Amino acid sequence: MIELRHVTKKYEEGIHAVNDISLHILPGEFVFIVGDSGSGKSTLIKLLLKELEPTSGRVFVNGKDIGLISHRQIPKFRRNVGVVFQNFRLLEDRNVYENVAFALRVVEAPRSRIKKRVPLMLSLVGLAAKYRSLPKQLSGGEQQRVAIARALINEPKILLADEPTGNLDAANAWEIMKLLEEINQKGTTVVVVTHNMDIVRAMNKRVITIQKGTVVEDKKGRGEFNQYISV
Ligand code: ADP
Ligand code: MG
Repeated sequence: MIELRHVTKKYEEGIHAVNDISLHILPGEFVFIVGDSGSGKSTLIKLLLKELEPTSGRVFVNGKDIGLISHRQIPKFRRNVGVVFQNFRLLEDRNVYENVAFALRVVEAPRSRIKKRVPLMLSLVGLAAKYRSLPKQLSGGEQQRVAIARALINEPKILLADEPTGNLDAANAWEIMKLLEEINQKGTTVVVVTHNMDIVRAMNKRVITIQKGTVVEDKKGRGEFNQYISV
């Protein structure tokens, strides 16, 4: 599903943001990526989205060496990888429905598909009742739910989340992580970059720790959600 082979990314200033990382994420896995600020986590996510090219090494996503994907094929490739960020990145002047529908409109999906998919995704994230609200009328947790619905609208096999709970309070952070877990249980491979170590410990998933651009630990989780640890 996702494979990095000796991937290095050196920025122009000479920083090795990612330094010889090799790792493998299987279909259906739920993986946390943790590490100090500046350790290379966001760079890693950008390499998986082909927003950045590695300085050396190869990146495989959905069975494809993405270094071989042409410029023209990038939009199509990105539709198969959902992504959410810390700051939601919603269209502020459009309502919830339109924010989620947008990704279907840009691919000129038939209206029947839009009418079917958008409500389905909004109910999945628990926002069916708020489809007419503007982003500014929603809480941070709700805005992140909209971003997740949008990320899943084209049925990607992989969902990448870069600090999805970074702007949320503890209760909302939990809700979002549980939602990501549900999405994973329905079959999507989920990769979550986070600083929230309480949640990481409680959820018992695989945890990849990055320090200064290299993997220093890759720990298998027990998988199941541990409901007895409170945070
Ligand atoms: P993290 O997401 O773990 O905080 P990043 O991947 O954002 O880390 O950054 C890793 C390192 O690369 C940091 O030292 C950061 O300053 C540097 N870096 C990130 N983006 C750029 C860039 N566009 N140009 C130069 N250096 C960068
Ligand atoms: Mg980052």
